Amino acid sequence: MKIWGALIVTLAFVIITSIISVNLWGEKAEVIAEDVQLTLTMEMTVAQFGTANELSKTLLKEVFGLSTPEQMEQPLGSFGLSQEQISEKVNKAHALATEDATKNWFKIPLKFALWFLFMILCFVLLIKKKIVSRKTRLGLYGLGFVIFGVILGADPSPMGTVKDAIVLYASKGVLFPPRLVAFGVFTLTVVLANKFICSWGCQVGTLQDFIFRLNRNAKDAGSGGLPQFKIPFVVSNTIRVLFFIALIWVAFSWAYDLTEEIDPFKIFKPLKMSIIGWVFIVGTLIASLFVYRPWCHLFCPFGMTGWLFEKLSLFKIKVNYDACISCKACEKACPSEVMGGILKRDKLVIPDCFSCGNCIESCPTDAVSFAFGKREKPPAGKFDE
Ligand code: SF4
Ligand code: SF4
Repeated sequence: MKIWGALIVTLAFVIITSIISVNLWGEKAEVIAEDVQLTLTMEMTVAQFGTANELSKTLLKEVFGLSTPEQMEQPLGSFGLSQEQISEKVNKAHALATEDATKNWFKIPLKFALWFLFMILCFVLLIKKKIVSRKTRLGLYGLGFVIFGVILGADPSPMGTVKDAIVLYASKGVLFPPRLVAFGVFTLTVVLANKFICSWGCQVGTLQDFIFRLNRNAKDAGSGGLPQFKIPFVVSNTIRVLFFIALIWVAFSWAYDLTEEIDPFKIFKPLKMSIIGWVFIVGTLIASLFVYRPWCHLFCPFGMTGWLFEKLSLFKIKVNYDACISCKACEKACPSEVMGGILKRDKLVIPDCFSCGNCIESCPTDAVSFAFGKREKPPAGKFDE
């Protein structure tokens, strides 16, 4: 009863405070620009073309590569472009300008700065083995979704850098450069410290993790009353890969965003959620009580790319086999199947590790750490029953 009560309070808090926050920021809706039907003859000057279609000088400069004001008086036919090429270039530039106009360029740098400070704090705590209790984790994950979700909103997000880029490119043939930079930055954090943006920065990731911890015992090493399940990685990753393929296919075939209705980041802009969205997103968050980070493991496009890049991570969970007594306490305490893979190295692929540190504190001989360098392999026969 206590767990369900805590879940209801958490969801009500997120929904109500997010509505207030969105209103305070005056968030603009994210939309993909409609194609513009242009009034266009090759005899028109650039200036006339701009006026007839209400196009800005910046856009015209970009489309025709203008370098002097005098070129505004040149006819369109003198630029060596066909009507179709002009139309395509205008629509691409228009799509990028629309994307740019929906962004809050005060909030985005602020969010990235806070992300870095917060991730550095969590990194230091993890390295020094200070994230040692359910309460610490609840506090950090709580701060994560309140700062980066409730206060600073759904956008930007790690998932958006992958998913929105695919959808915009598929529908308009353009990539929004700031999004590529953000994807590069997020991926860098994954490579520096195992999946760190997902672990401690992502607003939906930290919210799911917070909810999962509501249903853990005092040691944060097992369920806290309601059952918890570990989905076999082969199942969760197959679904995630298929969903990723479907996302690309639908985007390129119908210029449609497959996550449009079910994007869980919309929990931080609840008034934009459809009925399907409410059912799916709230359902996913309720499922987080029983299964570790269901959205991350089953659907998230950044979760998938991050899982590939975490193979290169410099800092990660490592085991000192000289100290390890093969008790497998770390494997049991891990919320997913990953610690079994890290510990025994008996599987072809290692699942996602969300750098939560449960395995570190559960080890009775202090053999597990979050440290720099390659993982060792266990000595032969170490885990034979
Ligand atoms: S995998 Fe999870 S934590 Fe990472 S971006 Fe996706 S939702 Fe966020
Ligand atoms: S191996 Fe498991 S318990 Fe250890 S940090 Fe990764 S997800 Fe957490």
